Amino acid sequence: MFHQDQEIFNILLETVSLGVVIVDSDQVLKEVNAASETMFGYSKQELLGQSLNVLIPSTYHPNHSKYFDQFIKEGKRRKMSESADIFGLKKNGSIFPVEIELNPFTSGNKSYVIALISDISEKKEVEKNLMLRTQALDSAKSGIVITDALKPDNPIIYFNSTFQTLTGYSDDEILNHNIKFLQRKDQNQKPLQKLKEAMLMGESCQATLRSYRKDGSMFWNDMYVFPITNSRGYVTNFVAIQNDVTLKKIAEEERLHLASIFDESLNEIYVFESKTLKFINANYGAQKNIGYTLEELKTMTPLNITSPETEAKFKNTIQQLLKTHIEKIEFESVHQRKDGSKYPVEVHLQSSVLNDKNVFVAIILDITERKNYTTELEHKVEERTQQLKQALSKEKELNELKTSFLSLVSHEFKTPLSAILTSCELLGKYQLEEHQDKRNKHIKTIKDKVHFLNNILNDFLSVEKLETGKVNYRFTDFKLSKVVNEAVYDANMHLKEGQQIKYPENIDDLSLYQDEKIIQLILSNLLYNAIKYSPKGTSIDLYVHQDGSNTHIKVKDNGIGIPEKDQKHIFERYFRAENVLNTQGTGIGLNIVKNHIENLGGSICFETQEHVGSTFSITFPNAAEL
Ligand code: ADP
Repeated sequence: MFHQDQEIFNILLETVSLGVVIVDSDQVLKEVNAASETMFGYSKQELLGQSLNVLIPSTYHPNHSKYFDQFIKEGKRRKMSESADIFGLKKNGSIFPVEIELNPFTSGNKSYVIALISDISEKKEVEKNLMLRTQALDSAKSGIVITDALKPDNPIIYFNSTFQTLTGYSDDEILNHNIKFLQRKDQNQKPLQKLKEAMLMGESCQATLRSYRKDGSMFWNDMYVFPITNSRGYVTNFVAIQNDVTLKKIAEEERLHLASIFDESLNEIYVFESKTLKFINANYGAQKNIGYTLEELKTMTPLNITSPETEAKFKNTIQQLLKTHIEKIEFESVHQRKDGSKYPVEVHLQSSVLNDKNVFVAIILDITERKNYTTELEHKVEERTQQLKQALSKEKELNELKTSFLSLVSHEFKTPLSAILTSCELLGKYQLEEHQDKRNKHIKTIKDKVHFLNNILNDFLSVEKLETGKVNYRFTDFKLSKVVNEAVYDANMHLKEGQQIKYPENIDDLSLYQDEKIIQLILSNLLYNAIKYSPKGTSIDLYVHQDGSNTHIKVKDNGIGIPEKDQKHIFERYFRAENVLNTQGTGIGLNIVKNHIENLGGSICFETQEHVGSTFSITFPNAAEL
């Protein structure tokens, strides 16, 4: 029936690129075109009269029969691949994806179906490829967006899931927007300008930009943008690959910061290889203090900058650090600068690893000032200790003085005080007029003893004054004879029986400019000692001589003398020779005399022999200079 216009039909059949297959209601192949022959690998003769099943993989046969019958019943045109993938079976047994459009028709009361078949293997392959690429893009660790450069404002047409996770924006907020929304108001970034210019020129570019997530938080976005050009050389798209490099950036900043600390530190920092000990690096502080440049240092080892005597110690320390698990060693050493000068240092040495190499890092503190300070401190401590020692010995002396004074008071005051007491008691008993002589005698005793006690007190106060430097000398012009007279007069009162003082001759014209009271005190002391330490009936000689500048006075007695071993102590305060212990005295007098005479620019000395006598000589300037 459809062979009626056979020629037109044949032309139609052979010219269409689709495979055309006609089957009757029993699924028997009635017609196939050339495209079908090629598609399935059969010749027309082989197919005609065969069941349609030869072109369908066997797994589909049962279902296919069911659908075919239903289709014939409905009698409607239908596309088979709409609901599921369908496949054809080639003669060689291979299966390939197809799309089939079925058209039922009747001819001569018989139902037929014309199937238009297209081999969609290639289309499927392309689809698969595209899907793979999309999956690849989606599983990429970097955020990826693709823009349409042909549309105004270069909007985003694709983004992967990483980009969304990275930025937090919704699909609508991303799609069809220019990617600059990521920088929000922070558009004034230098690298952004560079990026825009490159895109205008259709070039690729890399920039690290401050970008902002949906929640407003900032992150450093390392963006690599490259253009996609079509066959005619037009840029059709841009692909932007983005990575959050915030942590890297922070680490980089920290590294830079540490590097600048390393370089700017005023301490010396050296890095040297643990095997060869060769310097690898040295900061600015090190180069400045040691005087070598980094280039020079790189040819040297720490041994070249330590003074030779510390070499052994240094090597030993390094060995210790290498062998044990100690992390760090501190020690003091001496460094030598390029100019030869040396300085004390404190070294903090620790082992470390740099680019898989074992190295040592040495931090050096120049401790010159600390050392100076320590020495200064030591001196100060020494000085203070000395001062304290002196203060302590002064304190001790003062204590001794007090003790001596107390024993002196108890010893020397007792006798005169009891004499005064006795005289007072007796005075009360002598009430008659004829007792006047006796009363006078006791009054004199009392007066003498009081005078005596007063002298002791005066002596003691003199010592105090001399000791503390509080003596104020009063200089006047006076006749020497006046002082001698008064001293001799006083001394005469103490003479023992038969004793006499031989008065010096030719002294009337001699004058002095001195402290009159002190000269008299000195003279009285010497005369009184001569009397005290000489037996009855002996004479005491007083010699006076004056030259152009000095006056010399000698007091010579024929007394007990001073034992040889005591002589060197005779001017010491409270010292008394062993041969005078039965005689009253304090041991203060000569000490006072010596101090005064020396204060006045003079001197005192003596000659003595035990049991023979002593001569005390004083010399002092005629005119005081003070
Ligand atoms: P004092 O006479 O009170 O003991 P001094 O200081 O005057 O103290 O004398 C110190 C000591 O020197 C005396 O104790 C005595 O031992 C000795 N001395 C001083 N003068 C003489 C002298 N002329 N003859 C012998 N010994 C003397």
